[in-house]
Amino acid sequence: MMQITEQELLEKLKVNFGYDSFRLEQQAIIENILAKKDTLVIMPTGGGKSICYQLPALFFEGVTLVISPLIALMKDQVDSLKANGIPATFFNSSQSTQEQQEVFDAIASKSIKLLYVAPESLSLLQNVLNQSYISCIAVDEAHCISAWGHDFRPSYKQLAFLKKSLPETPIVALTATADKATQQDILEQLAVPYATQFISSFNRENIALEVRPANDRVQQIIKFIQKRPNEAGIIYCLSRKATEQLASKLQQNNIDAKAYHAGLSFEERAQTQEDFIKDDCEVICATIAFGMGIDKSNVRWVIHYNMPKNIEGYYQEIGRSGRDGLPAKALLFHSYADVIQLRQFIEKTGNKEVQEAKLERMKQFAEATVCRRKILLSYFGELIEENCGNCDVCKNPPTFFDGTVIAQKGLSAIYRLQGKEAMGTVIDVLRGAKNVTVLEKNYDKLKTYGVGNDISWRDWQHYLIQLTNQGYCQIAFHLNNSLQLTEFSNKVLFEGEKVQLTTPVEFTKEVKTVAKE
Ligand code: ADP
Ligand code: ZN
Repeated sequence: MMQITEQELLEKLKVNFGYDSFRLEQQAIIENILAKKDTLVIMPTGGGKSICYQLPALFFEGVTLVISPLIALMKDQVDSLKANGIPATFFNSSQSTQEQQEVFDAIASKSIKLLYVAPESLSLLQNVLNQSYISCIAVDEAHCISAWGHDFRPSYKQLAFLKKSLPETPIVALTATADKATQQDILEQLAVPYATQFISSFNRENIALEVRPANDRVQQIIKFIQKRPNEAGIIYCLSRKATEQLASKLQQNNIDAKAYHAGLSFEERAQTQEDFIKDDCEVICATIAFGMGIDKSNVRWVIHYNMPKNIEGYYQEIGRSGRDGLPAKALLFHSYADVIQLRQFIEKTGNKEVQEAKLERMKQFAEATVCRRKILLSYFGELIEENCGNCDVCKNPPTFFDGTVIAQKGLSAIYRLQGKEAMGTVIDVLRGAKNVTVLEKNYDKLKTYGVGNDISWRDWQHYLIQLTNQGYCQIAFHLNNSLQLTEFSNKVLFEGEKVQLTTPVEFTKEVKTVAKE
């Protein structure tokens, strides 16, 4: 086994990468890899994962194989390694036979230290996938191997054979986003159950978390931005159209905003990105296509105009703010309509159950009545003792009141409507509305018609969502989102069970919280 001193590690770090010291757990990870142990590295984006396998590669005799799905970035990565005096190259199916042969020769003669390859191209490397040539295997974006991950890629499935064919070669799996189930699954799929796990903290204390109801979100966003002159921010929207509509509404209000999405030309996107980085444009209204690989440390806030699909995505996106460590703000608009729309998207995709479960966790986060950071971190397997003090729930804890009568009214309306109507109609009936649906279906003759007219439409929505979350009613997504009773409903309707509800947060109150900061 190699004996490498700390001195030697630091020397290489300085000479080849130009840094004076290691960050966080980098050194422990590197030592583990040099001891030829399988390793799992969960570290937030920007944490410094690359060095964890690039530095050991310099000490190994053979090649370190780097498996990465990001073919577009491989050339850049290889170029920057070469610029640091590290012999490296990449291999893919678009190369000529001649070029591929050169790669084989370089491996056999051990004249390169790192070889980047996409999982699809691995089979073409069969001849050289041999322990005497390959000293270490780094699997980047390792969550792609797991069906529990948020970005499952079937091509990653092939990586399972690596441990079998090269049992002595240490495997290093790295990712920035893996919930607990995914972390375990990565180890299983790569057949490295005993890998040493290094899970860095995901806590970004400087990012204040806030969730607001989505009513009048454009107005809310305008006010939010007007309170923060000259601050750069990103607003994530679900659709291309929404990014453009929002950008133009903001422009009408003299806000320097631009849209960014994959439907724009390459030139337009590059220009917008550059303007943003150079502080020539303050606000970007973007689809999730925006932000990958963008290095801008002074993004002061991120708004989610729409609900993200899962917590992994949400965390990555809010993480683009406050990279300089100064206070930043993440504001999420929670709309029930968004959740329904996302569910409909999920219906059409593969891996439906996992996606649904992830969306459910996202929704629970948005509707939380406990410290949001606790929920966020526990999702990635990190537990914190204290409430964070820097989220809206901590700053403004919800007050509960006895909502039994409200619950009884709501649930009996659902009962009278025989579980056939969606939330909107249930509320209309409760409030005694006289619209076409209500009148045509004779709902004005129901016993519960109008019993809830002392409560506003929005507050009813808030209460019914809470009742749903507490399991007293449910939304039948396959039956036009109709609201139905559950086995718990009877307890409230007939057995005298008490229900605790929270007061709806009013918009005016929210604005005051913001102004206080
Ligand atoms: P990740 O892959 O985790 O997103 P990178 O490996 O790209 O992160 O590193 C993020 C940035 O941090 C890079 O600019 C990298 O050069 C820098 N970096 C990594 N390790 C160190 C270190 N020990 N000291 C200073 N800068 C570092
Ligand atoms: Zn908190």
